[in-house]
Amino acid sequence: MKLSELKTGEKAIIVKIGGHGSFRKRLVEMGFISGKKVSVILNAPLKDPIEYEILGYRVSLRRKDAEAIEVVSEEYSRQITEEKYPELHIHKEEEQFCIDRELENIAHDKKKIINIALVGNPNCGKTSLFNIASGAHEHVGNYAGVTVGAKEGSFDYKGYKFILTDLPGTYSLSAYSPEELYVRENLINKTPDIILNVVDSSNLERNLYLSTQLIDMHIPTVIAFNMFDEFKAKGDKIDLDLFKQLLGVEVCPTICKTGEGVNELFDSIIKVYENSDKYFAEHKHINHGKDIEESISKIENLIDDKAEIRKSYSRRYLSIKYLENDSNIEELINQLDNKDDFIKVREQEIKKIQDLYNERLDNAIINAKYSFISGALKETYTPKENTRTKLSISDKIDNIVTNKWLAFPIFIAVLYLIFWATFTIGDYPMGWIENGIGMLSDFASSNMSEGWFKGLMIDGVIAGVGGVLVFLPNIVILYFFLSLMEDSGYMSRAAFIVDKLLHRFGMHGKSFIPMVMGFGCNVPAIMATRTIESWKSRLITMAVIPFMSCGARIPIFVLLAGAFFPKHAALVLLLTYIIGIVIGLISAIIFGKIIKDDSLPFVMELPPYRIPTKKAMFRHTWDKGRQYLEKMATTILIGSMLLWFLGYYPQNQELKIAQENYAELLNTDKTVEITKMKIKLDSLSEYQQENSYIGTLGKALEPSLKPLGINWRMGIGLLTGIIAKEMVVSSLAVMYSKGSELQEDVELSEDKGLQNALSKDIGLAGGVAYILFILLYFPCVATFVALKNETGKWSWAIGICSYTVAVAWIVAWIGFQIASLLI
Ligand code: GDP
Ligand code: MG
Repeated sequence: MKLSELKTGEKAIIVKIGGHGSFRKRLVEMGFISGKKVSVILNAPLKDPIEYEILGYRVSLRRKDAEAIEVVSEEYSRQITEEKYPELHIHKEEEQFCIDRELENIAHDKKKIINIALVGNPNCGKTSLFNIASGAHEHVGNYAGVTVGAKEGSFDYKGYKFILTDLPGTYSLSAYSPEELYVRENLINKTPDIILNVVDSSNLERNLYLSTQLIDMHIPTVIAFNMFDEFKAKGDKIDLDLFKQLLGVEVCPTICKTGEGVNELFDSIIKVYENSDKYFAEHKHINHGKDIEESISKIENLIDDKAEIRKSYSRRYLSIKYLENDSNIEELINQLDNKDDFIKVREQEIKKIQDLYNERLDNAIINAKYSFISGALKETYTPKENTRTKLSISDKIDNIVTNKWLAFPIFIAVLYLIFWATFTIGDYPMGWIENGIGMLSDFASSNMSEGWFKGLMIDGVIAGVGGVLVFLPNIVILYFFLSLMEDSGYMSRAAFIVDKLLHRFGMHGKSFIPMVMGFGCNVPAIMATRTIESWKSRLITMAVIPFMSCGARIPIFVLLAGAFFPKHAALVLLLTYIIGIVIGLISAIIFGKIIKDDSLPFVMELPPYRIPTKKAMFRHTWDKGRQYLEKMATTILIGSMLLWFLGYYPQNQELKIAQENYAELLNTDKTVEITKMKIKLDSLSEYQQENSYIGTLGKALEPSLKPLGINWRMGIGLLTGIIAKEMVVSSLAVMYSKGSELQEDVELSEDKGLQNALSKDIGLAGGVAYILFILLYFPCVATFVALKNETGKWSWAIGICSYTVAVAWIVAWIGFQIASLLI
């Protein structure tokens, strides 16, 4: 009976909790667990919610919710007991004891009943399984559905009573045919304890499509991998262990014609049934790709947790079906108070997908499910060669780009092309932006009145933010190509190609994209790790990204390589990238040992190749580039201003007077005096820097940097690099008093005077140490914040960043020692 039917004062034992997803979870959290005793405090006919006592405390539950809980009442147990022992009522105490014992027995037996729905494509072997399982035992009865029928049969197995329902064969769970509707209604209204999905293994792709829809329903599922005899006879192979983990569903090979494997199948059913709470908690979703997942969660957010439909449907299933324009689900949604919101959001999302993929949303969802299946099969399934006669265009392209010999060369060529394009094409707009910033700076310096505010604007804001803005074209171009790779479908193949390699380092094929993005800017790269489902792989990937030398570090290396290795600058630049990658991979192994995790492997979706639409390219490039711009508008702006203040104060009065005098002198033609004044000004600026707040900080740091051959001036460069790597070069320029002498049209990073000053000041070994330190240490404040946001904990962000500093120090020290020996 149902919990809601219990009367005031009655007691019962809970047998099963019905309902789906988070509805069910909520009941369990309230204490409604099978086997527990519950009593009714107050259940008046018109009262809602009803009050119960469970586990020693009182809870109220809505009547509708109480209907989802199956119980055995004490009253029922009393009847049974009285029938069994008519004399017993004379001994009151013994009677109560027997009633209690009987109640537990009945509840126990009730719980041992497993309702199983057989679902699968036509001719996959459902009826054969049904007959083998139930035929020899209990009754087999026919009963009619709307227009199609289902058979119910039961049998006992290992102390459990299995009730099997053989449903009509269907290819999907849409609402198009009567069979499909019938199966759906059955799954929803009768909510089986287990869905037994029979799959014809000789036709995997099509059969698994139904499985992905069943997974959306979020009901405990077991897959019978049927026709295994034919599968083996064909010579196909599958890694069933991995396959299970990728799907998040128990899978058993069976031959239903002969009954082979059927007992193991039933064992699995018992296992899943007994652990169904775990199934609800750890359920895996089919990933439909970023854009569709976004649409799904928008609808999910509209569904109130307390809505009546939540009892029968998982939120996700409802949302997906609603987005597919499923007429049945639409009717249900239309009864909700906020149905207008649903209609509005769906319209938006349909339009969004249409724009992005030139495809209807319902088709896009089907395609996404097939991408999931292809991905899962690609990793686990090896068909005997030459079995496929008709190859699609996608297959033909795949045969080339994932070919054993060609895959890596093609992949490396593509990467090379991307980087080449990024830096050559990016040079043009970079020049324009530099000129623009120069003009703005000149304009400000000739039109603003003297004073601290002018300094803050020109040397703080314009120089700081401008230094970052310059990289925008490179980053946008890099992200444009990465989006092109993603949207065309090639990126998924690339992920497969590097998957095995990355697995050795505790990462995943999907870690690859974020790592490449890291060469542009670490911040969007860290956000891009969201596609990695395994927490461990994701965390390791995030920890590795700071070692991918971002675009902002390039000018520093250009400057330093030019200063310390003028003849081999390009080689040094390449080496820094390689060292970064190697240290990153070593770190991945270390982090892999630290991070504990038991999450299962997950599928890399394999979408068909397609020509990306303009809108999709624009949107996806913009999504990534925007994060870079946000970093500029927030952290870098604030950081630049802070840095400027730290360098400007405490202010030296003498310098201020000298600056004013110098400005006046410039308007005259006293060349000798101008030169004299300039020298004085330079030494005064140097004095100012040394004694400003930042200079004091740099000096305080000096002892820890001395073993690396790095002095306090360069230490200040490291300090500014904490805020943003883009600011290191300009701060070095200021430190070496070259700011005032720079040639107008030469980039700072290529300034010969600055390079000479640097190499004279710290020498080659120190230079090597400095390059290594800059490459490896603390990424930047924006990355730090991104790490905190994405890991959800300050401790991870602090841990990862401290680790980078430690590694930087050690590697720089080793570099310093080796370089000192060699010179
Ligand atoms: P249903 O439509 O899903 O109920 O499928 P049936 O149980 O009617 O089976 C369709 C056909 O497949 C029948 O001819 C069965 O004998 C055959 N069949 C079922 N299971 C197996 C199996 O494991 N191996 C092989 N070779 N044939 C099977
Ligand atoms: Mg049948």
